[in-house]
Amino acid sequence: MSAPITQDLVTIPRKLPEGPTNIIGLTRPQLRDALIAVGTPEKQAKMRVNQIWQWLYNWGVRDFDLMTNLSKAFRVTLAENFVIELPEIVTKNVSTDGTRKYLVRIAGGHEVEVVYIPETDRGTLCISSQVGCTLTCSFCHTGTQKLVRNLTAGEIIGQVMLARDDLGEWPEPGTRTYDSRLLSNIVLMGMGEPLYNFENVRDAMNIAMDPEGICLSRRRITLSTSGVVPEIARTATEIGCLLAVSFHATTDPVRDKLVPINKRWNIEELMQSLAAYPKASNSERITFEYVMLDGVNDTDEDAKRLVSLIKQYNIPAKINLIPFNEWPGAPYKRSSNNRIRAFADIVFKAGYSSPVRKPRGEDIMAACGQLKSATERARKSRKQIEAEAGMKPE
Ligand code: SAH
Ligand code: SF4
Repeated sequence: MSAPITQDLVTIPRKLPEGPTNIIGLTRPQLRDALIAVGTPEKQAKMRVNQIWQWLYNWGVRDFDLMTNLSKAFRVTLAENFVIELPEIVTKNVSTDGTRKYLVRIAGGHEVEVVYIPETDRGTLCISSQVGCTLTCSFCHTGTQKLVRNLTAGEIIGQVMLARDDLGEWPEPGTRTYDSRLLSNIVLMGMGEPLYNFENVRDAMNIAMDPEGICLSRRRITLSTSGVVPEIARTATEIGCLLAVSFHATTDPVRDKLVPINKRWNIEELMQSLAAYPKASNSERITFEYVMLDGVNDTDEDAKRLVSLIKQYNIPAKINLIPFNEWPGAPYKRSSNNRIRAFADIVFKAGYSSPVRKPRGEDIMAACGQLKSATERARKSRKQIEAEAGMKPE
């Protein structure tokens, strides 16, 4: 008789990669545990975390040996067990309007794009959370690229650190600068859906907000989501940043086509979760992003439906109108300036701020929705995109 077939349900732990740990991206508790694991006495661990934290995130130092308030022996231990590793800037393009686009290489040779947008009263860094995206919004260039992988917390905060390097913005060791920062705001509006990489985004943003380091206020960080409803409440409690939502349509059939995650969580469910967003208040309004697509979502009726939906759910909101940025093979056209103005007017008269987002860095393909790393282009044809969007080919 043959032996009964049994299934081995024991999970064999995956062998961890050999070698030192990257210290960038560890949260304070993770860093504390890691220091204790390499022999730091528990009683000293908190102080050591504070010291290392300041060198890394307040002064931007990349060499343990320069951390001069640590003993030589401790610096050697650190160097033996940890590395300070950031992604690498492969290329930098500067637009005629001052926008800088960095192509950044992460482990494994993948690339993401990071965009710095200088304005008179602020400087905003648009960072990526994933290589590619699992979602397939039909107007978005990133959506034509398959998800390659989630970024680690170190790779997410690393984008901020690289930009500070390039802007020359780390204060001299021993000093602090809070005023007139070049990099004053972060928006999670680059490649990927941040709420599908929640833990890493959360940890990276908590590092960005830490008062002993980069020290950006939570109100200077905006996370944009296409509408991952179950993670919206967590964003408020575990990150506490401002929220933007890629709304783009006022009826379910149209939103299903533009933002297919709508088939999973529809407009009603999304609006309910936004109405419950505990941080939402008049001073911390939720941004409704609305891309203006010619003949698709840009009528006066759309504008009226948009404001009545927001009123119905009583959501403190501002509406950010985004002229569609074209990309090669895109199945849509940008609405005319007159149409955008008429739409904005209806929204404004209904009592909502309705700024039209000025496309920045278009000449270097750095504008919203144009981001896609050259090496990973999926090269979907126009036909494929239209088919997925449920549109009739021309
Ligand atoms: N995945 C997140 C964040 C990245 S997209 C999200 O969808 O919200 C950042 C913003 O750019 C979103 O509002 C998105 O809808 C918008 N966008 C994408 N493609 C665009 C395009 N071609 N033109 C204008 N805006 C676009
Ligand atoms: Fe992904 Fe956002 Fe682009 Fe949609 S708009 S495909 S969620 S990056």
